[in-house]
Amino acid sequence: MQSFGARLVDPKAGSESRRGGAGPSDHKAMTIDGMTVMVPVHTAPAFESPYLVEKPDAFGRSRISREGRHVGHVSFPLRPHFYDLTTADGIPYSQIAVLHGRDVLATTVLQTCIRYQSRTKTCQFCAIGQSLAAGRTVAHKTPAQLAEVAKAAVDLDGVKHMVMTTGTPRGGDRGAAVLADSARAVKAAVDLPIQAQCEPPDDNVWYHRMRSAGVDALGMHLEVVTPELRQRIMPGKAQVPVESYLSAFRAAVPVFGRGQVSTYILAGLGDAAEAILSVCETLVAIGVYPFVVPFVPISGTPLESHPTPSPAFMHSILGPLSKMVVAGGLKATDIKAGCGKCGACSALSSYEKVLAS
Ligand code: SF4
Repeated sequence: MQSFGARLVDPKAGSESRRGGAGPSDHKAMTIDGMTVMVPVHTAPAFESPYLVEKPDAFGRSRISREGRHVGHVSFPLRPHFYDLTTADGIPYSQIAVLHGRDVLATTVLQTCIRYQSRTKTCQFCAIGQSLAAGRTVAHKTPAQLAEVAKAAVDLDGVKHMVMTTGTPRGGDRGAAVLADSARAVKAAVDLPIQAQCEPPDDNVWYHRMRSAGVDALGMHLEVVTPELRQRIMPGKAQVPVESYLSAFRAAVPVFGRGQVSTYILAGLGDAAEAILSVCETLVAIGVYPFVVPFVPISGTPLESHPTPSPAFMHSILGPLSKMVVAGGLKATDIKAGCGKCGACSALSSYEKVLAS
């Protein structure tokens, strides 16, 4: 269902879905067989999905059918309690951070990005400006606001870790400074493992600064691995070549530890499975967890009609990749915080579990 998405009979089922924002979006969290996964529900492929999720019963459980045949059950995480709160200056907490998956608090600290200013530079899969334009979020979440919301999300909803991503600001730190400030404030308020996500900063000192501010894990996201494809799909971000990311990873892993640095790779945008697996081999050798997720188009972006990858294509990557990460001593379950630990956007951790069983 992660590839196809699902059609919902009741679009209001479960907690509010993610729409827009940085990274993959337009999903709704659903728990199937004890695993919480993000399933595309607002995208063109989802509207044509063979899977139909019926209106949930009083306990939040729904039946899933495919072509009229019952295939299973799904339950929706309930709306988090912290969504009902507002800051002293009247901003709803849900505009500062949102619940991802089952127990992850996620925020985009800076909702603006130097790469998003012009059509020629923007990453074609990204919608970071859309939720801002729609008034669903605030442009810059202050450290104090993030700390307030993080404390409430832990106290009221039992969130277990936090993802702080950011649009890329001007300046060589690439957002590391604002992430360090935010992490420091959150850690002062509540004991919550944090993953920060940014482009590689120009000075390795930022890895130490983020780590000592309380960032437990770091994501620097390649998204696409073939140079020509990077140039076409994300012309701004492609100015930082894959080789520079690899140097950044070599500098960051000794600071955060093996397996605590990760990257996000979007499968289905044109990279061959062999190309993805070859880069992943290098990443695993460095100690970087390669979180490969199926691409899901976001409505309103230049790639909104791009198809999602087939389950067979994902299997051809995740099968060998799971063996590679386990053999390299990198496991989703060992990650302190972040997307690799959450795992709701990719079946990679399920493949790892099968290997472990
Ligand atoms: S994997 Fe990352 S982006 Fe996906 S739901 Fe989990 S925290 Fe959010």
